[in-house]
Amino acid sequence: MADTLTFDVVVLGAGPAGSAAAKRAADRGLSVALIDRSVFPRHKLCGALISPRANKAIRDVHGMEMPEDMYLPSRSVEFKWNGEVLRDIEAPYDLTYSNRIDFDHWLRNSALEAGAVNMEGTRVAAFLDAENALELADGTRIEYGVLIGADGAASPLAKHLFGQAFDNDKIAFAFEAEADQPCDGEKDALMSIDFRIVRWGYGWNFPKRKTRTIGLGGIKSVDQDLKALMAQYLELEGVDPDSVKVKGAHLPGGDYKKRPGRENILLVGDAAGFVDAITGEGIALAIESGAMAGDAAAEALAADRPRRAEKFYFAAVKSIQAELDKVRRIRGIVYAEAFEKHFKDRLRHSDWVGTAFFDVLAGNQTYAEVEKRFAQKAFTSALKGVAAWPSKMRRKRAS
Ligand SMILES: Cc1cc2nc3c(=O)[nH]c(=O)nc-3n(C[C@H](O)[C@H](O)[C@H](O)COP(=O)(O)OP(=O)(O)OC[C@H]3O[C@@H](n4cnc5c(N)ncnc54)[C@H](O)[C@@H]3O)c2cc1C
Repeated sequence: MADTLTFDVVVLGAGPAGSAAAKRAADRGLSVALIDRSVFPRHKLCGALISPRANKAIRDVHGMEMPEDMYLPSRSVEFKWNGEVLRDIEAPYDLTYSNRIDFDHWLRNSALEAGAVNMEGTRVAAFLDAENALELADGTRIEYGVLIGADGAASPLAKHLFGQAFDNDKIAFAFEAEADQPCDGEKDALMSIDFRIVRWGYGWNFPKRKTRTIGLGGIKSVDQDLKALMAQYLELEGVDPDSVKVKGAHLPGGDYKKRPGRENILLVGDAAGFVDAITGEGIALAIESGAMAGDAAAEALAADRPRRAEKFYFAAVKSIQAELDKVRRIRGIVYAEAFEKHFKDRLRHSDWVGTAFFDVLAGNQTYAEVEKRFAQKAFTSALKGVAAWPSKMRRKRAS
């Protein structure tokens, strides 16, 4: 007969969100299983710009600093517009560029050291919600008090709960390639962002110790050929598209889940859709929401009411959701064709726009503050009239 294992908390997915959830739950004295279908260290398609906000979340949740050999620090930034350099900026603090193979392995090991049980290379065959259990492909039954879904943008657990992991019209899609251009020191570690290589998205060229990570992403339902644009972007960035392997992945594009979970099943990170739809940053939000879910599980289990975990978690993630609402509204301006000239001009000349970008990445300025500044700058009426989603834009064009 197959084994049955029982844990207070089972975390599905050992990326930054899952590791944070497992670490926090273990730190609070709970028994935790950390399941991932991959064997670590594993690759994850990502620019791996670890923002100051993400570094702060790592300190808060894991109590660690990234080891120096895991990242390249740089402050040099270039804003571009379809290949044209608009401006060179010195970021007000170090931006850190890592790689997800080492980064995720490091975070996951922190959760294991805290006591989470490693169940990697493991596939879930069935979710048995009514029995507070799941069944693995090898027949093992795992019972839980609280189940935390940190299983990424295409989350099988979200699909199980809601019928689909994401809305196909609102999800973003990104292509990325590693170009063999090591950045020897900080001096040639220039990062560039191209704000008009795609519509409803952007392109990035991030410096790494051994490579450059070049990619672009945008809302999938916008009528544009992202793959062809990726080839064009690589050429603009001085890379022969035939010399690199281009890979693609979904990433949440602002359509987060209003109720990320149900009763004692909680969704965190990409599985909940928690990605900043302007900067594309997801790692900080993954770690923050993971820790919130770990705390919510601990509270609900301490009260002997595991099915109330959603109550604690939904209250905590409201802060993240409120920010993402503002991101969506501001995105309407940033990406609207009617504002294109104005936005380009601001990127080139406005010190405030340049600073706001970095302040948001650092978590030093919230989008509430950014929105207030937009309003002060006489954008109020525009904010009301602009579409938060591109489908409206498409309809307008078609008519
Ligand atoms: C091209 C690209 C570039 C990006 N660049 C950046 C960037 O520079 N900076 C930034 O902050 N964010 C970036 N993001 C977003 C960032 O990658 C995500 O927001 C972040 O990885 C979310 O973490 P997570 O733990 O929720 O999910 P993930 O990191 O996706 O981890 C999910 C884990 O779940 C596992 N899993 C999946 N299905 C199952 C299953 N059925 N059973 C068990 N395990 C499962 C996977 O193996 C994986 O380990 C980028 C995303 C993309 C696609």
